[in-house]
Amino acid sequence: MSRRKFLKNLGALGAGTVISPLAAQTHSSSSLPPKKNSPVVISTWIHGMEANAGAWEILGAGGDALDAVQKGVAVTESDMTNRSVGLGGRPDRDGHVTLDACIMDHDSRCGSVAFLEDIQHPIDVARAVMDKTPHVMLVGEGAQKWALENGFSKVDYPVPLPQVQKDYEDWLIKSEYKTGVNVENHDTIGMLALDASGRMAGACTTSGMAYKIRGRVGDSPIIGAGLFIDGDVGGATATGVGEAMIRTAGASAVVESMRRGASPEEACYDIVQRILKKHPGVEGMQVGFLAMNVQGEYGGYSVYNGFNYALRTQDRNEMVDAKYMRTWE
Ligand code: ASP
Repeated sequence: MSRRKFLKNLGALGAGTVISPLAAQTHSSSSLPPKKNSPVVISTWIHGMEANAGAWEILGAGGDALDAVQKGVAVTESDMTNRSVGLGGRPDRDGHVTLDACIMDHDSRCGSVAFLEDIQHPIDVARAVMDKTPHVMLVGEGAQKWALENGFSKVDYPVPLPQVQKDYEDWLIKSEYKTGVNVENHDTIGMLALDASGRMAGACTTSGMAYKIRGRVGDSPIIGAGLFIDGDVGGATATGVGEAMIRTAGASAVVESMRRGASPEEACYDIVQRILKKHPGVEGMQVGFLAMNVQGEYGGYSVYNGFNYALRTQDRNEMVDAKYMRTWE
């Protein structure tokens, strides 16, 4: 940028404008607004690259953000090598894989399922709950029964996954429940998309924390904790230790910060700070947030290093490292 243009831009900020230290500090991973009406999709972790490719088949053709996020995260649910999403995920402490998912659009329509077993695509059931029922959330046996009555089928489960079985048996020896930092560097998939018509949607799906107490549900299927969209403002999604997001209504808090004028990255930074304040002394607890506003600006922030997200626009298709508060050696 030329010096003259830089000074002109500074002038446009107005005499009383203060550039916050955070804005200065985080500039490098902040996004630039994309071209008007150009779609954007972001999603958590490296598995987000393939998920974004699925979403882009719809977004790139001018399709709807809601259909795009559903199709995108279903790619990850189908991947039986993924140990934290779909039926290839790690089981609970009783040896069962239980799935949580939710979806939300720009009009605050939403659907969710939790503690769902033996169904390959929980995100499709969440979408069907949204489209076909007057409710938002179905859980457990009731969710499965409703899904089977509404065109979904049970898969033969457990699928033989020898390594997963062996890891589970090794874990049973001590049966110690520990929340690790990026143990495998891939967790829940949370996705946010803005389509060419300016509509935003989000989806989130997971098999939850490995070896959790049977019946435990994390943040991922909880609207306002693991995912929140407001079509006037933007959206947010989360990954990591779900209890922290539930206690702070994390995704909703991020959207409310953006409503008050924070950039997506600043809003994620704010909630990470609040979580640390509410959990003093908690070591090794990873939490990461992603946010996007309706202008298509996006950003992320996490407690520890190692959290990254996949970005797809008309010009970019890459991983972006999120900023973080603490370093895990
Ligand atoms: N947030 C998910 C949960 O607590 C897990 C994760 O993202 O790794 O169930």
